Amino acid sequence: MDTIILKARGKINLTLDVVGKRDNGYHDLRMIMQTINLHDTITITKTKTEGIRINNNLAWLPKDDKNITYKAAAKFLEESNIKAGIYIDIFKRIPVAAGLAGGSSDAAAVLVGLNKLFGTHYSKRQLMKMGVEIGADVPFCILRGTALAEGIGEVLTPLPSLPPMHILLAKPNISVSTASVYKALNIAEIEKHPETDDYVEAIKRQDIDYMTTHMGNVLEDVTIKMHPQIEEIKQDMIRMGALGSMMSGSGPTVFGIFPSKYEATLAAEYFKNKCGLREVHVTSTFCKAKREGKRRHER
Ligand code: ATP
Repeated sequence: MDTIILKARGKINLTLDVVGKRDNGYHDLRMIMQTINLHDTITITKTKTEGIRINNNLAWLPKDDKNITYKAAAKFLEESNIKAGIYIDIFKRIPVAAGLAGGSSDAAAVLVGLNKLFGTHYSKRQLMKMGVEIGADVPFCILRGTALAEGIGEVLTPLPSLPPMHILLAKPNISVSTASVYKALNIAEIEKHPETDDYVEAIKRQDIDYMTTHMGNVLEDVTIKMHPQIEEIKQDMIRMGALGSMMSGSGPTVFGIFPSKYEATLAAEYFKNKCGLREVHVTSTFCKAKREGKRRHER
């Protein structure tokens, strides 16, 4: 096998809490992460000449060692002591710098893909260990599904899959740097922390009503202060029938959970045509159990 094609799926946060700050500047988090079906497509090909080459469909996104997939590939080849040439083509659909872990997911796909391409047989756990050195969200993007993430995001407890849900993503036409949001956050001033443990219990009993009405993200207040339109998008989503709406990660993407694909699509038209948002996507939650069941069946 000389080429492999992978789906690098994005994520949303159903909860995001910051519970402490380490001396090295990293924050201790507790968050419930959910993989979504919106994905970038990563194609990795072995080449005759040694080195890592990158291409992608966005003119302004780095195509050199600043692309996170370069770091992932370099790390993998170094750890495995492999001298080879690879070409990585990235077709981006996940909005960039948007709170959807697009870059982390691309990096995760590269680690998983190279493991298959070079037959190195690393376990998922070993790949996740490699991944955390590239970015805190990379291990979750390797694990996928629904999980409680603690530590800096790398201590993962898998949770039962959510029932399939229709998700609308609407990103204001701005980019937000994760670092600037954490810098502006004062942990002592957080007014309301999400009830993470109760939320985990709600997932276990598949209580959609609780899940849609008790989402919480302590970074929302910080990012909304910088960009008040995030609050407007949240309110518009609810007016248009969302069961719940929240900012994902450090933002600025707002997501809404809708009762049907039809209602999510109608709301998407509003955000695109009436509000002029350029990055609006209707997607759904990724159900890992369903996919693994299908694989077993196929075998
Ligand atoms: P997170 O939710 O993990 O904070 P994000 O959605 O906020 O992620 P990304 O889309 O991962 O952010 O991008 C963050 C930065 O990484 C951008 O400024 C971008 O230029 C850079 N970057 C490097 N490689 C990639 C890539 N393959 N895809 C997206 N961004 C990349």
